[in-house]
Amino acid sequence: MASTASTDALPESVGFIGLGAMGKPMAANLAKALPRGSQLHVHDAALAQVQELWTSFPDVVVRCWSAQEVAEASDVVITMLPEGAHVKSVYLDPTTGVIAALSSSPSRPKLFIDSSTIDTASSLHVKQELSAVSATASFYDAPVSGGVLGAENGTIAFFLGCSPSDRNIARLNALLQTMGAKVVPCGGPSLGLAAKLSNNYLSGIITIACAEAMDMGMRAGIDARVLAAVFAAGTAQNTICDVFNPVPGVCGRAPSSNGYRGGFRVQLMRKDIGLAVDMARTVGARNVLGASGLGVYVAASAAADCRDLDSRVVYRYLGGRENWEHDQEEQIAKAGETR
Ligand code: NAD
Repeated sequence: MASTASTDALPESVGFIGLGAMGKPMAANLAKALPRGSQLHVHDAALAQVQELWTSFPDVVVRCWSAQEVAEASDVVITMLPEGAHVKSVYLDPTTGVIAALSSSPSRPKLFIDSSTIDTASSLHVKQELSAVSATASFYDAPVSGGVLGAENGTIAFFLGCSPSDRNIARLNALLQTMGAKVVPCGGPSLGLAAKLSNNYLSGIITIACAEAMDMGMRAGIDARVLAAVFAAGTAQNTICDVFNPVPGVCGRAPSSNGYRGGFRVQLMRKDIGLAVDMARTVGARNVLGASGLGVYVAASAAADCRDLDSRVVYRYLGGRENWEHDQEEQIAKAGETR
């Protein structure tokens, strides 16, 4: 799916910092797409992550011990880190960060692309600090959607914080298309993040509504698959219900049908809804579902039977029936006995 871009536009020296669940498969797709002779300079706080990628691509990957080292060696650097504090440390630490590399050679043009899902204020702060040190450094927010499977398959979407006519758009597209299927320019700095947070707010709130609506309909006596088919045919139609239904057994390939394993961790949804609610407050948007939605994800993230599982586990947290198929079979058997 990825790698449709012309390799002519790809830089010869790229950096990647943050080789976790998302970053490692993204960096692997990039390593496969770079033209022969190119180098991918990588760094992660966990050495094992660096070693694993280097073992897979020993001719392309160069191991680095700091963000500064990556930035010194690369024309373009991509970062994929957990939270705003990590992004600020990687870019702005005066001795080991990207900014240390810029201070020593401020006139060499460089592109920085941060794909982490973080707050817009941290992202704008990093952008401002880098431009204060180097007039030729360009920083973009480009958070992603599509999860770990999408990162592995090269089908993630990038929400890019710039306009479609940005002077670097061709280079950004060529590079990001080696790792994903879609690049959506969202208008300007930090607007990729604003788009991502709005998207995850909507998806997280729909998940709770879908779990509640499934539970109430099933308790009233409707078969879960019939209820999902009703939503699909009616005005409630949505992707969470159709593809990621929170009720086990409704969508065979959804994480809910696999013990809520895989998918998008409930703690990540808690983080994103929290960031979205903060953003709504900052921009003065009235938000009636945010506080209760966030409360559900905070509690589910702390619950021993939900933590570390796919975010659609809120159905379990809300007390939804998971063994409904088995219960139905028992009811049918009992009805047969009494006849
Ligand atoms: P992760 O925790 O698996 O990986 C983060 C990596 O960053 C780790 O390998 C960690 O060692 C490294 N790291 C942390 N601090 C560092 C530092 N100071 N220097 C160098 N390396 C450092 O996280 P992830 O699941 O890959 O998510 C990364 C970002 O992508 C998050 O913002 C997340 O919200 C977002 N995201 C995740 C998913 C998903 O399904 N996992 C989907 C979309 C977006």
